[in-house]
Amino acid sequence: HGGGLNAHTWDLVCASLRTERHCLALDQRGHGDSEWSPEMDYGIESHAADIDAFVDRLGLDRFVLVGMSLGGVNALAWASAHSQRLAGLVIVDVGPEVRQAGVRKIAAFTSEATPLDSVEDFVARGPLRPGGLRAPPPAPVVGGGQGRVSDAGGARSRKRRVPRRGRRAPGQRSPRRPLGQSGARRPHRAGRQSGWSARGAAQISRRGVRRMKAVYIAETGGPDKLIFGDRPDPDAGPGDVVVRVRATALNHADLSIRAGRSATGTLPRILGLDIAGEVARLGPGVTGWKEGDRVVVENRVKCGVCTPCALGRDEFCERQKRLGGELDGGHAQYCKVPAVNLQRIPDWMEFDEASTLPLAGHTAWHCLIERVQLQPWEDILIQAVGSGVGSFGLLMAKSIGARAIVTAGSDWKLAKAKELGADEVINYTATPKFSQRVKELTDGRGVDVVFDCVGATVWDESLASLKPGGRLVITGTTSGSQIPFNLGLLQSRPLTLMGSGARSRRSFAAMMHMVHYGGLRGVVGRTFDLADAAKAHEVMAGRDFFGKLVLRVP
Ligand SMILES: [Zn+2]
Repeated sequence: HGGGLNAHTWDLVCASLRTERHCLALDQRGHGDSEWSPEMDYGIESHAADIDAFVDRLGLDRFVLVGMSLGGVNALAWASAHSQRLAGLVIVDVGPEVRQAGVRKIAAFTSEATPLDSVEDFVARGPLRPGGLRAPPPAPVVGGGQGRVSDAGGARSRKRRVPRRGRRAPGQRSPRRPLGQSGARRPHRAGRQSGWSARGAAQISRRGVRRMKAVYIAETGGPDKLIFGDRPDPDAGPGDVVVRVRATALNHADLSIRAGRSATGTLPRILGLDIAGEVARLGPGVTGWKEGDRVVVENRVKCGVCTPCALGRDEFCERQKRLGGELDGGHAQYCKVPAVNLQRIPDWMEFDEASTLPLAGHTAWHCLIERVQLQPWEDILIQAVGSGVGSFGLLMAKSIGARAIVTAGSDWKLAKAKELGADEVINYTATPKFSQRVKELTDGRGVDVVFDCVGATVWDESLASLKPGGRLVITGTTSGSQIPFNLGLLQSRPLTLMGSGARSRRSFAAMMHMVHYGGLRGVVGRTFDLADAAKAHEVMAGRDFFGKLVLRVP
């Protein structure tokens, strides 16, 4: 912080740049008529996301953050949640209230007896000079006791009183690194077996920042765009926990996100929508959880303050984001999630199985319980029973007590479905007009409910399989989504066609109750190492499996 109006200039930025050191300077986004737009979001959250994007994109570790004016408010908010990523924090001219908080924050950061009070003071005593502001002690090593991890840098950096950057000889440049490659180790493409040097724990880079292994994309495209490499180990902000991921199931949505057909937010992005693991760290204000708790994570992060959220209909949250989509996900050793998204998993349930619950399990629950409200005395036709959602649909239908007629494209999948309790099976490759077989199996009536995750290729036969007054719920269009549709059908037959869409925290908690006490299980088809994510994507696209594909995170 500086001396009020006297310091409200870009002098600090110029001074920082002149030293040839990394400097991230923040002013207010949208400040000035030329950039202001009524459609833009200028809230503090969006600015924090800006800083996240800059820091990740530039690969900054242990850097000096300079915030001016309202940018100073944003810098303070970001620094509060990411203190160990900073070597120094400079806040300039942010007004009397924040200035007091800023002074306290800076005092805590620097252990200086007196705050800086001018540009000259900053340049003379600040982080740009050797022996200037001292770095905070490095964050504790996660999974401590693993000698190689702390030896790799943590122990040394504890003895260091100034950042390594500050001790470089004058005029000596830091080595340039391509954008997005901030780690001490270069990332490599997923699909090859890797030699992990510290299994089961984040590593400390030579600059004292925790790194972790993750599968992420820096650009969209085919499976070759999946990168298995180092990413920063996330901090737990207020209300958050960091989960030590143990298993992360794969979904067709992952393939869409990788290919750029579904939103990713800023890149690079860690993929992984399904997460099961243990609580590793608690953010400020989190209660009811402790380190080591075994958890599964609801995928959608809701805002909690929009009108649908306030009405308890968070499935319609206007600002929801997906872990593994618009936010970093679970294909990583650690993942930051809101504590409100956590549910406990039973002691007897393996992480592999638990990781299948948030998307496929919850989707089937949402469709059958919340949407069509399947009843014990009803007949249901479940399409593509070998898929993750289809296999959950079968298990839920049988738990309810309904009669389940299932379809699949190969006999071995139908045999597996029989083992899981299917009452009748139909091979839709051998019997493309399967509605006739459905009618035969239901004394000519048709089924009460169709559960469809296939779409275009089975649409006509699905409708023809329904009895008068029947309900259809669709949650996937993996075979295509464009069809000619005869509206006269709805005029003559009182059918109810339902979409599925996003899901609520309420229904996730309800499903987990059935997991704990109602015998609901997940079906794990195959498991892969996290490093083999590209191979898993190819198997997912090939569809020759039953249940869920799961990546194990060492
Ligand atoms: Zn909301």
